[in-house]
Parts: sequence; structure tokens; C-alpha cells
Amino acid sequence: MSESPAHEVAKPSDFIREIINKDLEAGRHDKVVTRFPPEPNGFLHIGHAKSICLNFGLAKEYSKRLPGTGTDCHLRFDDTDPTKEDTLFEESIQADVRWLGFEWKQIYHASDYFERLYECAEHLIEAGKAYVCSLSDPEIREYRGTVKSAGKNSPYRERSVEENLDLFRRMRKGEFKDGLHVLRAKIDMANPNMKMRDPLLYRIRHARHHMTGDQWCIYPMYDFAHPISDAIEGITHSICTLEFENNRELYDWVVDELMEFAKFPTRPRQYEFARLNLNYTVMSKRRLLELVEGSHVRGWDDPRLPTLAGLRRRGYTPESIRDLCASVGVAKANSTVDMAQLEFCIRNDLNHKAPRVMAVLNPLKLVIENYPDDKVEELEASYWPHDVPKEGSRMVPFSKEIFIDRDDFMLDPPKKYFRLAPGTEVRLRYAYCVTCTDVVKDDAGNVTEIRCTYDPDTLGKNPEGRKVKGTIHWVSAAHAVDAEVRLYDRLLSQEAPPTGKDSEFLNAINPDALVVLTGCKLERSLADAKPQDRFQFERQGYFINDEKDSKPDAPVYNRIVTLKDSWARSQGK
Ligand code: ATP
Ligand code: MG
Repeated sequence: MSESPAHEVAKPSDFIREIINKDLEAGRHDKVVTRFPPEPNGFLHIGHAKSICLNFGLAKEYSKRLPGTGTDCHLRFDDTDPTKEDTLFEESIQADVRWLGFEWKQIYHASDYFERLYECAEHLIEAGKAYVCSLSDPEIREYRGTVKSAGKNSPYRERSVEENLDLFRRMRKGEFKDGLHVLRAKIDMANPNMKMRDPLLYRIRHARHHMTGDQWCIYPMYDFAHPISDAIEGITHSICTLEFENNRELYDWVVDELMEFAKFPTRPRQYEFARLNLNYTVMSKRRLLELVEGSHVRGWDDPRLPTLAGLRRRGYTPESIRDLCASVGVAKANSTVDMAQLEFCIRNDLNHKAPRVMAVLNPLKLVIENYPDDKVEELEASYWPHDVPKEGSRMVPFSKEIFIDRDDFMLDPPKKYFRLAPGTEVRLRYAYCVTCTDVVKDDAGNVTEIRCTYDPDTLGKNPEGRKVKGTIHWVSAAHAVDAEVRLYDRLLSQEAPPTGKDSEFLNAINPDALVVLTGCKLERSLADAKPQDRFQFERQGYFINDEKDSKPDAPVYNRIVTLKDSWARSQGK
């Protein structure tokens, strides 16, 4: 056995770690450098979180094993398309990566390398490996052939090196309109891998770039810029999602053709893993953009969206999202993760983080006829259930008039309804047992108030000789804090968005994904709550004080998740 540190480590948990360990053992690398390369053309979503956790996670793990080697993960903006990218997106991406719990030493941009990329392109031209093609876009597509049939050579393929250099330099100078020429690699128009059929390396785009301004009017394509950026930065393992599998051959071609000329510090390799897919939502940036721009949601951080900004505002914790990524693992086969798995992760995290309080979302007044008019009792209520090893409590005021939830009262209840109904008795959480003696109705027959009597002997103990099965939550009317509560549910009402035409998925939007309740009644202690404070509203779910819309005297709460999987139950699962 060798003395290599790789041997000291437990069995790798996935195939990427297995590859890295083998590379270290074989001495192919003495450090691990990964990168997370978002294009700044939208907000990050939970799928990106999987890539972030993997790439930054690897750097964190291996830098412990390989201290002082430069083991690292680069945050690199893959900013090669000036027409779609923006500084605003860069800022949101940085905020999201930090929020997830990862840091970087320095920010990289593909645009930092525009000059070197250009030199590499000229080198390929001089080596007879690239040419300026003047076919139009549709012609290029037609000449490419199909999966079943070979393509045919561009009539411009045999241009001389001199002519190619001249044209390419004039492209850079801005002499030509968008689309007039492109630079292509000269590989093989009959290659079974379509990506190898003389792929585009550069195109003309007269557009202002958010980093380089008007310095350039030609921009490198992803398949050219990405491998070179990796190689320049000394990336050892370039990890991307499975849809790039066919691009790997081109990645290798670019690096191999330029290795000697550009004197790259490492020979990076690309590895593909399965992307994270979630049901009941959409994940592609294109669709998210459509939802935002079409005002189907209230912005990129709308809590219905699977964007990290949306999940954060919804109340998800970074721990819960990292936990989901860890539990999903890194595999080579695509699959769809059930939203219930994410919901499990957040419930699991908040169970020991979110204090329990009482809130009435659909208030119904309850008057205790035999309770003294002006009396107020302060009752101690624990913030934590018995199975959470935490201490702490607050006092809740109890008085003659309280609110209970409409769902906890029925005029004509079915069997086994253990809440309140005419003539039945129920326990008020932390307080007394009450019996419903009468109801008040409006002209339309709706119950507007219920009347009860209380048993003064039932504070903290069971009533004599009777069994009271139900316990309900309540809030003292005179002490209640009024709030708006936003109930969020899944973005789509079907598991997978329709695969048809582009915008068809809009028809699958769940109309109940947002239900806004006003006039909700929160217990007094919540008067002190601050934006981003999380609570469990007893019997209802986990909620967060909204970071944007809450005002000190007009709080807004978002439902993070219900307590149990009420969705699965309502779907009869
Ligand atoms: P989308 O396809 O969702 O619009 P994208 O792939 O265009 O996103 P990029 O900014 O190119 O977004 O992605 C940055 C990195 O995140 C890439 O390495 C990409 O492979 C990875 N990534 C994107 N979506 C997912 C996903 N669902 N699961 C895992 N990794 C992902
Ligand atoms: Mg992409």
C-alpha cells in the first residue's frame, strides 16, 4: 500500500470522489481544483445548489486532506453572451452561494480571458485547425447533417491561413455585421458526434458586455471558452451535468490542440453527473424567466419559485437544502426527486429550530360567558415540545374573549370530530377546558361567534369524571397581533410540466400556490418578532416573518411548509 493520503480516507461516497481519489493515488494531480461556472443570465435555482454543494463541497473536503496545495473551488461567471447577461444576476448569484454556506477566494470571469481566448483562436487558424465560415445560420445547420447522415463541408473550409487570419482580425475590428461570418474549428463533418462537425468557436455580436463594455464585438462560444478557462485556472476536475456528455470530446480536442501553445498549468478533465430535477415545479432558467417577466409570480424571489432567492424568502434554511443535496447524492442517471423529500428536509431542520407559538389563521370569536369580564390570566406556555431538548417559554394572556380557528368548530360534526361543536367540550391549549353552549349566526346563517362556559378546575389538569379528547389553539382577542399570512403550495398542480410547446407549462400553474389571508390573529409574544424569524404555528405548519413586506405594525408571514404532508393526503396517496 502506498503512503498516499488518499488511503486514509473512508470509502468515497460517489463516483466523482472515486475518480479524484484514483487521480491522487496515481499522482496525476496533487491538488483538487473545481469550479462552479454559472452564466449570469438569471437567478440560481435548487438544481444549481446540487452543483454548488458538489463543487464547493469537494474543495472543502479535499483541502482538509491536502492542506497547502491550493485545493480550491472557483466561482467563475461564464459570461460569453452579452445579450442575456447582467451584473444584477452576478450579485444575486454571489448572495445565493454565500447563503448556502460557501465562500470563494476570488471571483473569476470567462471574460477575463477574452484576450487569451482570441490568441488561442489565432493559433488554431495558423495551425490550420480553424477557419472563417461565411455560411448563414440556416445554411450551417443544413450542412451539419443529422444524427443518421454525415454533414458536408462548408465551401469556405479551404480558405487559406492568410485569408482566415485577415477575416478573423477584421471580425474583431468590427468590420462585419452580426451573423456575416463565424470562426469554426476544422475537425470532421462526418464525425458521428455532431458536436465535432466543425463547431462554432466565435460569432459576431455587436453588443455591450457588462464586464468588457464595447471592447469586443466577437464573442467566444461556450465549447471554446469553457475548456480554455478551466485549463488557464488550473482546474483539475471540471464537473458538469449529463447534457454536456457529447461536448466532452470537443472539450478534449480544444485542450489538446492548445496545451503546448498556451502552456496550461493542468490538463483538466470533464465529468458529468445527473442534474437535480424536482416534481411539481420548473427548473430551467428560461422558464423561470418567463414566469417572472410574464408576471405569473412576484419576481425572482417569489416564494413559489424553486430559485434559491425564492426558497430563502419562503423560509427554507441553507441546512435543509444542503441536506436534500446530500440525500439525493451524486449519480450518473437522471431522475426526479419528489418535492416531499425537500419538505421532509425542512421539517426535520425546523423541528429543533422553530419555537412553537399559537396563531389563528381563520378567526372565529369565542366568548366564555362565566369568565370575569376584565380578568386577564398570564399562562406559561413552553416554546418546545417534550421531544425537542430545548428549554424556554413565554407567558400567553388568557381572557374572556378569544379567537379560535374556524376549522376547529362545526355545527353538525361527523363522528370522531374531537374539536368544538354545540354541546361538546374541548381543551384550550395551555389553558382550560370549555364547553360550547350556544352559537350566534348572521342573517345568512353563518356562525359569527360561539359561546362557551369554562371549567375553572381544568387548568393544567383533566376534568373530573370526563374525557376531553381534543385540544385546540387560541389567541386572546384583546392581545392579538393582526397579521397577513401567505399560504404557499406547489407551483404546479401536476407532477411534470406539459412537454408540449414552450409556454404550455403556464397552464399547469397551481392556482392555489398562493392563498393570502388577512386579519389573522397571532399571540401577543409575536409582537416582538423580526423579519426572517421562523416559528411553528401549532397544528398548522412552519412560518417565517417575511423579509420584504413585513412592517413593525403590520407583519406578514409566509408558510414554509405544512406540518404533515397534507398534499399527499389530499391526493389520496
Ligand atoms: P438551466 O439549464 O436550469 O437553465 P443552466 O445550466 O443554463 O441552467 P448555468 O448557469 O449554465 O445554468 O449552470 C451553472 C452550473 O450549474 C452548470 O455547471 C450546470 O451544469 C449546473 N446546473 C444547472 N442546473 C442544474 C441542475 N438542475 N442540477 C445540477 N446542476 C445543475
Ligand atoms: Mg446552461
